[in-house]
Amino acid sequence: MKQYPRSLNKLINELGKLPGIGGKTAQRLAFHVLSLTDREAEALAESIVEAKRSLHYCSVCGNLTDKDVCGICSDASRDRSIICVVETPQDVMAMERIREFKGTYHVLHGAISPAEGIGPADINLKSLIERLQGDSDVEEVIIATNPNIEGEATAMYIARLLKPAGIKVTRIAHGIPVGGDLEYADEVTLLKAVEGRREL
Ligand SMILES: [Zn+2]
Repeated sequence: MKQYPRSLNKLINELGKLPGIGGKTAQRLAFHVLSLTDREAEALAESIVEAKRSLHYCSVCGNLTDKDVCGICSDASRDRSIICVVETPQDVMAMERIREFKGTYHVLHGAISPAEGIGPADINLKSLIERLQGDSDVEEVIIATNPNIEGEATAMYIARLLKPAGIKVTRIAHGIPVGGDLEYADEVTLLKAVEGRREL
């Protein structure tokens, strides 16, 4: 079979590297891109480059931001005595949607998974400890990792680490189904989960 032109092959190849995109979908997306106007295609390409250039992790909490310190960490009205620990920036957005939590966050960028060889040193945990050591105002750490094996292992690890330091460690409990993703929880479910948190 005759090959596509080189630049089209390259586009299909790059799109195929995206998560959840198989060969057929990559082809369909590539042809869709070709059907765009020059302006639309440029806007798509520019948005990718701009997001990569301007976004990085907050130096305090690890959330995605285009500033050195993110909008939540630099917001004086947020309660600095409570830190909610989550796995991803998407989880921060999910928590913010319930409009109930007024504390700050810490984003781990993953979870401990012995099965996959991901240990405490492989996630953004050291900076949480440093943060707690440097800030004596923190009274409670809510662990809102996903309710699956990795999320639970991470929660237990953090609880064991922090409790000797006299910090109250709570875990969101009810509402989120086992095996579920925090990111996809509806607002009521997530609100119930926060209300039903328990001390670890
Ligand atoms: Zn931050």
